Amino acid sequence: MYYNNETIIFHNGHFVKAADAKMDLYSQSLHYGYAVFEGIRSYRTESGETKIFKPVAHFERLKVSAESINLPYTYHAQDLIEATYEVLKQNNLQDAYIRPVVYAPANMSFAPNSESFLFIEAWEMAPFLGDKLLRVMTSSFQRPNPKAFKIHAKAAGHYVNSIMASQEAKAKGFDEALLLDMHDHLAEGPGANLFFEKDGELHTPELGHILPGLTRATVFEICEQLHIPVTEGTYTIEQLKNADSAFFCGTAAEVIGWESIDATDFPKQWKDSLGAKIQKAYTDLVHEKNNQ
Ligand code: PMP
Repeated sequence: MYYNNETIIFHNGHFVKAADAKMDLYSQSLHYGYAVFEGIRSYRTESGETKIFKPVAHFERLKVSAESINLPYTYHAQDLIEATYEVLKQNNLQDAYIRPVVYAPANMSFAPNSESFLFIEAWEMAPFLGDKLLRVMTSSFQRPNPKAFKIHAKAAGHYVNSIMASQEAKAKGFDEALLLDMHDHLAEGPGANLFFEKDGELHTPELGHILPGLTRATVFEICEQLHIPVTEGTYTIEQLKNADSAFFCGTAAEVIGWESIDATDFPKQWKDSLGAKIQKAYTDLVHEKNNQ
């Protein structure tokens, strides 16, 4: 599903077959979730070229994530971008999901490491949450306390929380979870940020208890171009339940609308919502489609 016998990855400076790559089973990353990663997409643009969307921002966040959990980071964004384009080329991929991971050596203690390792994988992947409107459930799991984790880092261990929340929602017949923060304010999805529409304006949870999503940042840019008012703030679940529409956004999920929250439908038709406008603008942007 992710690779076959021919698939090439970039691993510690070399292009190697995924099937032959080895990782240390004594790695501190595997035992304790002590690793950082990115989720990036490339697209076949209107002109037929392969373009990675916002590669510098993603590899800068990878560095920030590594440094914030004290994982040695010796890589340069430009080198990693070049390596990623080479991975795409060698695997004949244009529309791809790209996964760089920085991981620790063998280390069963909690002591710091003097080196780290890196691989970059790529595969074809449909939008992470599908393309149908989502029935979302408020999770019984909260996002981690930012005093317990560097919540702005994309660290592997944080995703145990995401997996539990997403699995709980699906086990209860919903499509995805919405997690609140430790103060019961709206936070984010297991792998996506959230926006909601109320009276012609968009709202999104402020930074502090969420991953600072790059798609979230792109939505702000789109709002500016389209003159859509957007506010960051602290919101309750009741405010969301009284909203006109809502959507998740993320690199993997792209922009995907919600049908309901806790089985309460949103009153606005998705096609008439601000989210639908953002969704179209986002698709045009990543495909470098200029239809002024
Ligand atoms: N929140 C979480 C918890 C995520 O895992 C992701 C996906 N990286 C996002 C938000 C969205 O971030 P981005 O737009 O940078 O992909």
